[in-house]
Amino acid sequence: MLQMQAMVATGPGKLLEAQTRPRPEPGPGDLLIEVAACGVCRTDLHVVDGDIPAAYPVILGHEIVGRIAAIGSAVSGFAIGQRVGVPWLGFTCGTCEYCRSGRENLCDLPLFTGATRDGGYASHAIADARYCFPIPERFSDVEAAPLLCAGLIGWRALRLAGDAPVIGLYGFGAAAHILAQVTLWQGRTTFAFTRAGDSDGQAFARSLGCAWAGASETTPPEPLDAAIIFAPVGALVPLALKAVKKGGRVVCAGIHMSDIPGFPYADLWQERSILSVANLTREDGTSFFAAVEQSGLRTITNVFPLGQANAAISIVREGKLDGAAVLVP
Ligand SMILES: [Zn+2]
Ligand SMILES: [Zn+2]
Repeated sequence: MLQMQAMVATGPGKLLEAQTRPRPEPGPGDLLIEVAACGVCRTDLHVVDGDIPAAYPVILGHEIVGRIAAIGSAVSGFAIGQRVGVPWLGFTCGTCEYCRSGRENLCDLPLFTGATRDGGYASHAIADARYCFPIPERFSDVEAAPLLCAGLIGWRALRLAGDAPVIGLYGFGAAAHILAQVTLWQGRTTFAFTRAGDSDGQAFARSLGCAWAGASETTPPEPLDAAIIFAPVGALVPLALKAVKKGGRVVCAGIHMSDIPGFPYADLWQERSILSVANLTREDGTSFFAAVEQSGLRTITNVFPLGQANAAISIVREGKLDGAAVLVP
């Protein structure tokens, strides 16, 4: 029997376990993918920590790039050897009120890759073909991996932020380094906010073209039209509210955040708003990949062998990487 290698989350708070398993067969609607690269997303840390629902034991990883090794009997439009990407949204019911109103990201009965169905910290992965994306040619496998979540969720957050000419990004990691290149390409003034004292992170943001980079507690050179918060730190919400002008939006892009401290109503007054971004729709993916095709975007990646997934996770947790961590089997 053919085998596969996987790094498995066996329960909350546990290190990932290296396992050898029988290689699965694709179901009628599935693709079997030989994984070439899988990004490490902050959401993976939340699965490891038990902060969000997951179906343990589960193979982490929802930024999968790979090539099709087998095709389910009911799938059309894909070819063996074709490169595809697999994102966080792994399945939707198609019948709930959210699916029927173009909001499948809020589906009542979804499956999420690398949390409630197996993901890509592995040599092979099964994915529902309807949720896979073709990947623009100009990206290598490793470069493309962070686009599948860090890129896509940033894109959805930006859509919700609206037509904001001056935008602030709080937490300058894998997602912000991609989104900043998109906002700069779109001609928006882009400010980067990092932890106090993170001069490396601030220099990285400026090297990508951000007009200013500084500590989250400091006042930016001009008021923001919108802020997007990527760091899982609730205390950033009132700080970002103070930094946005009248009518400004504060978009929380993370799946989990520490509690938001209290703040005066005056900081929300004047039609400022706070909203969260949940998951993605397939349309977000299609529009995002069309935009990055033209934008000249480059992702900055740090490669780790699959077997070192635990080390990669702790480095991401420390927030010390410029760009994104990517596992290669
Ligand atoms: Zn649904
Ligand atoms: Zn993610």
